[in-house]
Amino acid sequence: MDTLATSAGEIAQSVRVGDVSAEHIVNVYLDRIRRLDGELHALLSVDEAGARAAARMLDSLPAEQRTRLPLAGVPLVVKDNILTDRLPTSAGSKILAGFYSPFQATAVERAVAAGAVVVAKGNLDEFGMGSSTEHSAFGPTRNPWARDRVPGGSSGGPAAAIAANLAPLALGSDTGGSIRQPAAFCGIVGLKPTYGRVSRFGLIAYASSLDQIGPLARTVRDAGLLLQVISGLDARDATSSAEPVADYLAELEYPLRGLRIGVPSQYFGAGIEPEVRSVVMSVLDRLKAGGAQTVEINLPHTEYAIAAYYLIAPAEASSNLSRFDGVRYGFRAGASDLVSLYQNTRAEGFGGEVVRRVLLGTHALSAGYYDQYYVKAQKVRALIRRDFMEAFAEVDVVVTPTAPEVPFGLGSRRDDPLKMYQSDICTVTANLAGLPAVSVPAGFVEGLPVGLQFIGPAYSEALLLRAGRMVEEVVERPRWPLDEP
Ligand code: GLN
Repeated sequence: MDTLATSAGEIAQSVRVGDVSAEHIVNVYLDRIRRLDGELHALLSVDEAGARAAARMLDSLPAEQRTRLPLAGVPLVVKDNILTDRLPTSAGSKILAGFYSPFQATAVERAVAAGAVVVAKGNLDEFGMGSSTEHSAFGPTRNPWARDRVPGGSSGGPAAAIAANLAPLALGSDTGGSIRQPAAFCGIVGLKPTYGRVSRFGLIAYASSLDQIGPLARTVRDAGLLLQVISGLDARDATSSAEPVADYLAELEYPLRGLRIGVPSQYFGAGIEPEVRSVVMSVLDRLKAGGAQTVEINLPHTEYAIAAYYLIAPAEASSNLSRFDGVRYGFRAGASDLVSLYQNTRAEGFGGEVVRRVLLGTHALSAGYYDQYYVKAQKVRALIRRDFMEAFAEVDVVVTPTAPEVPFGLGSRRDDPLKMYQSDICTVTANLAGLPAVSVPAGFVEGLPVGLQFIGPAYSEALLLRAGRMVEEVVERPRWPLDEP
C-alpha cells in the first residue's frame, strides 16, 4: 500500500481491516514531517512519542472494536488555537507560549474517539487574526506550491500541512474565512460548517458569534469524513445545535442533477483579480455543460461586509482576549503592582495585529460610539443574512471565488492591514450570516492555486459537499507539491 498516495478514507479502511498497522501509517507521516516541515514551518509542535503510543493502542484493540472507527489510524493536524491534551496550545501567541490545556476540545475528542491520531499542532495567525499566517508569533508558514508565497490564514499551517501531505486531515477554525481562504491558497478542500454545527468547546475564542471549527482535507470526501465525526450537539457548548447530523458520505453517493447555482455580480466584479474570475467562470461553464443551471443573483449588502466584520470581530475579540492578563494563563511579565502586571504582560505578550484589533474593538464598544459603530454593524449583519435568505428562495447554492486573488508574496502585505483585510472579501459574509460554505480547488493561475466557494442555506453541508464533488470531477489536478513522482 502506498500510504502517501492514499486518502484518509482509504487509510482508515486499511487499518480497520488490518491490512496495515496504525503505527506504520503514523511513522510514515512523522518521517515526512521531519523531512519537510523545517522549510515549510506548517507545524508548531509535533508529538512523535504520543502519536506512536496512540497508534499502538489502536493496533492492540480487538478487531471488532477497530472496525467501528471511521478514522482508524488517520494522522490529524490540529490548528494551534484548538485545545489538545498531549500537545501545548499557543494560539500562535507569545502570551500562551508553552501553555498546556488540562482538557481537549470536543472536536478533537470526537476525532480521537473515531480513531484519529493527533500528530501535530498547526501554525496560525495569532489568535486567528490574519489572512497569511505571517502574524504568528512563531514565524510564518510557507506555501507548499510556491515557497516565497503565503499559505493564507489564519489556518495557514494546517492548510499547508495538508497540501504537503504532512497529514491527510486537519482541523481548522474559521471566523471570517480562516479555513476557506488558506484552503484556496493551498489547493485543498476546506469547509466552514453552519454556526452551531460543530461544538466550539475548546476552541480559543476570537469572535464567538462567528467562530466555527471545520475540516481541511485533500478531497471533498475526506472533508465529509471528518465533518461527520465532529458535528453534532455538545452539552458543553450552548450554541451547538441539536439539528440532526446528515450522513454526509452516504449523500455524496447520490448524483446531483439540475443544481441551481446563484452567481452574485457583487463577487465577480471590482476587487477580484481577472485571472481568478476566469478560472471560476470556466469551472461554472463545465458544471453547466454537465446539467447545472446558473442564475444571476443580487446580494446588495455585500459591499458593507468587510466594514461590518472588522467592527464585530474586533469588538468580540477585545472582550474575549481580556482573560489574558498574566494571572490566569501562560506568559507573565515582570511588574511591581497589579495594574502594571496587566499592562506589561499584554504589551509584551500580544503581537501588533492583536493589539490593533483590541484597540479597534474597545473603541467600537466605548460609550458614545457603541450605537454609531457596533449597533450599526449588527444591522448590516442582519441585512447580509436577509440577502442570502432571499437568494436561497431562487437558488440552491451561491458560488463565489474563495479569495479575490492568488497567494501573495511573503512579506508583501505585512504593513498594509487594510489590504490584508480585503483578502476576506468573499468569505466574511458566510460567517456574518452563520451559513455553511466550502472551498474546493478550481484550477491554477501560473502554478498558483485558485479556490471556488459554495455558500449554502443553514445545515446544507451535505449539499455543499455534493456540489464540491461535482467541481472535483471537472477540475484536472496536477501532481501535489512535494509528492514524490
Ligand atoms: N482574516 C480574518 C481576520 O483576520 C479571518 C480570520 C479568521 O477567520 N480567523 O479576522
